[in-house]
Amino acid sequence: MLIHHSKLAELSFEMGPIRPPSEGGSYSLLIRVARNCPWNHCAFCYGRPYNHEKFKKRSVDDVKADIDTVSAICDEIKKLSWDLGYAGDINNAVGAALIRSIPQLNNNHSFVNVFNWLHSGARTVFLQDADSIVIPTPQSVEIIGYLKEKFPTLNRITSYARAKTIFKKNPEELEQLRQAGLSRLHIGLETGDDELLWKIKKGVTAEEHILAGRKVMGAGIELSEYIMPGLGGRTMSKQHAVNTANVLNKINPDFIRSRPFTPLPGTPLLDAYEKNELELLSPHECLEEMKIMVDELDVTGRICFDHFRNPAYRTGTENLIHLLKQDYDGYKLPEEKGVVLDLIEEGLGISEERFLQPEDFIRLGSL
Ligand code: SF4
Repeated sequence: MLIHHSKLAELSFEMGPIRPPSEGGSYSLLIRVARNCPWNHCAFCYGRPYNHEKFKKRSVDDVKADIDTVSAICDEIKKLSWDLGYAGDINNAVGAALIRSIPQLNNNHSFVNVFNWLHSGARTVFLQDADSIVIPTPQSVEIIGYLKEKFPTLNRITSYARAKTIFKKNPEELEQLRQAGLSRLHIGLETGDDELLWKIKKGVTAEEHILAGRKVMGAGIELSEYIMPGLGGRTMSKQHAVNTANVLNKINPDFIRSRPFTPLPGTPLLDAYEKNELELLSPHECLEEMKIMVDELDVTGRICFDHFRNPAYRTGTENLIHLLKQDYDGYKLPEEKGVVLDLIEEGLGISEERFLQPEDFIRLGSL
């Protein structure tokens, strides 16, 4: 059966460009509460995911209007499911029938995001962009409350946050956010080494990272901390590894997520690399650094390697094997620390030429 009249193709809401891979894996609904990054100075990033554009908070009314549009898309998809004979169920057959009838839906990001979210149970929301909790807490509470009122199936609401922003919030505000329904924050730690934090212009010290992380954990909000093996090059490798583990030990986050460093287009670090002013770690050097860091860890959360830039090597048949598993839950510490260290050791026993090289990752960019 073909659908002849539907307003679905005309419905859209604002979405930012990125979200953590784990939020894609759980098909989170993307709600943009602020645009771009309020900092834009980190030397490895420079706000490039947001096209270096200026930060802007969105009004609560605008965000609520987007949530209303999501609700309208949901209602329309469910209605069409009934029309198609699927009794309101959201499944692959409904998706295929909708695309067949309204081909432009294939390129409609709002429809695709809402359909996948409904299909996966409409459980998780990710609040965009880079530091959405920089908006005043009462406004965040109002937005989260509205989301939960509109979509009672939600059981997880997450966001990116800068450690400096958390550092400046008082604990009561974080408690209010948790009570409203904010359940997980993703923070870019990158390194726990003060010299390197200053060098990369992160705008936050190791101590501020620790206090911010503890504040999040203390409020009962789940915490993902992102780290960047290789960020300090050869000269700072050891201090980067040891001090990053040290900061993580003091925070004890729920998740540590590894994002090995690659200089990317649009950042000063790629210019520095091209002028031979920046040395990148070889695959074995990167593994040695990861070994020191993992060995120093004394935490009870999970360590995850859920990004393609983590160490990968080719087999004789040219298949690419990731040394460490790439799922979003990774390895539980301390129980699986030995497993991770053994795998790193295994990698050190594999000829370095077989690994993807720093140049390969530069070529692949941020894919
Ligand atoms: S805070 Fe995040 S988004 Fe902003 S420049 Fe730094 S790494 Fe990039």
